[in-house]
Amino acid sequence: MTRALGFVLLLIINSQPTLGFSKDNHIDNNKVDGPGIFSNSGIRGPKYRDQIKTMKEIAKKRPDIARTIEYGQSLKGNTLTALVLESRNMLITKLALVTGATHGNEYLNIVDRLTEALLNSKANVLENYLASGGALIVVPIVNPDGYEKRRRGNAKNADVNRDWPNSKSPEPAVFEQPESQALANLVMNYLSDHPLTKLNLALDYHCCVDGMLLKPWGYEKGKYMTQSESDRYDYFIDPMIKYFPKPGKVGTPPDLLYTADGTTLDYWYDKYGAISLTYEGTRRRERNNLQYHVLWWEDILRNL
Ligand SMILES: [Zn+2]
Repeated sequence: MTRALGFVLLLIINSQPTLGFSKDNHIDNNKVDGPGIFSNSGIRGPKYRDQIKTMKEIAKKRPDIARTIEYGQSLKGNTLTALVLESRNMLITKLALVTGATHGNEYLNIVDRLTEALLNSKANVLENYLASGGALIVVPIVNPDGYEKRRRGNAKNADVNRDWPNSKSPEPAVFEQPESQALANLVMNYLSDHPLTKLNLALDYHCCVDGMLLKPWGYEKGKYMTQSESDRYDYFIDPMIKYFPKPGKVGTPPDLLYTADGTTLDYWYDKYGAISLTYEGTRRRERNNLQYHVLWWEDILRNL
């Protein structure tokens, strides 16, 4: 979202008392709010080290399908950590990526609950996807320094979502921030370790526009993918529209918000031809929405 709007929201949120962090903070699948780190979404989250703990707990509980990867360090020395879901001894042929808090103050408490919610779902779609050679990389907090400070940028206040190269842009960004470079390398290394795999889909969760779903291209106004590419995208967008009680607008960033060059949105599509989407949630919308994200993700995984 825009910096100006962010600033206004920041003023509003700053005028409210900030609650301290509770040691018994845990992720409750039925409740979005809780004590912990405040975000511009109005949703509080656990400390970053507890985010890592949650990922490690899932890996410990399900070593057959889950492991954590420490894929780099943030500027302030936080260990960048991802949860990788894949079936052991299975030839991996498809990969999806889900990310959150690339803008540190846009935490939605969806990505960090998604894995468990999918594993608990009776439909069993995630496990079937993994058993058919699918892999899912989950990065709940791309920018932990920003997350812990409720800051859009990283510790240098650089925008981690304007740092991604795009071969089509007249003035492409080059990786300058460790958080973005490390995430790009994580995916690149995964693909080179699994040569039959490509990145099929990437979904980045942001805040705070009411359920808006953004698709490439964002780097310049008036640039669109071809009709056949757009049709391919619809296959993954339609379930969101079907399941969400009040789906938001779907379109490109310049058409719906503003031009944004150097985003993950354009990068995953440009570099890998992935279905690349950015979801903009809000607290009001997401507090009871996890079930719909699960249904959406189940269709995504079925369609990959
Ligand atoms: Zn954002």
